[in-house]
Amino acid sequence: MKIERLINAPVSSNCYIISDGSGAIVIDAGTADSEELLNYIQSRDLKIDFILLTHEHFDHCAGVNAIHKQTNAPLYCSEKCNELIQHSRGNYSAYWTEGKPFEVAPADKIIEDGEQLNWRGHSIYFYLTLGHSLGSTTIRIDNEALFTGDNYVPNIRTYTNLSGGSKEDLRKTLAFYSLFIKYPSMIVYPGHLKPLTISHAHFFESLRGYSEQQMKKVAEQLKIKED
Ligand SMILES: [Zn+2]
Repeated sequence: MKIERLINAPVSSNCYIISDGSGAIVIDAGTADSEELLNYIQSRDLKIDFILLTHEHFDHCAGVNAIHKQTNAPLYCSEKCNELIQHSRGNYSAYWTEGKPFEVAPADKIIEDGEQLNWRGHSIYFYLTLGHSLGSTTIRIDNEALFTGDNYVPNIRTYTNLSGGSKEDLRKTLAFYSLFIKYPSMIVYPGHLKPLTISHAHFFESLRGYSEQQMKKVAEQLKIKED
């Protein structure tokens, strides 16, 4: 399995292409024309098996329509994410002055909390993880990769002041992330900035006034859903 990061434009969020053999998954196609992404796929003769979204915001989903049109790849996302991407105010493109408002076509499959998918010999797990937004979903592949979307971006305080954001929910989500430290080789792939190993991800720092000790206390009440 290979994981490649493309930086979306004009907002520099991360698009990830996970490939194995001739198949690929795309997470957060956030560039409107998806040209770089489609070139990457075509030049390597990859087939996009499905597109996933970590959440509904425009800088993470602006390219979905273009990929769908070019490749017919289905979109999978959480119920709330699906609801919100279909409206320019829900995906926030209506409020962004540097681009045009847009709507994303409905998802082909709704992802449930704790759902597991088998993909080309890998296990993909989905966790509905609120905090940054109502549609926020964490995607995990095997014990190797954790895609946190905008709930966790290294060295940045997580934005919880957009619609549906909640510091209380984020507290729980960050504590949940800390449980994955039991997989020391796991890499955290954030929604913006560079991926890092889980031991370097100080999740508690994403929330003002949240200590490592408090995070551990919240984490004691939680467990990873497939355990
Ligand atoms: Zn966001």
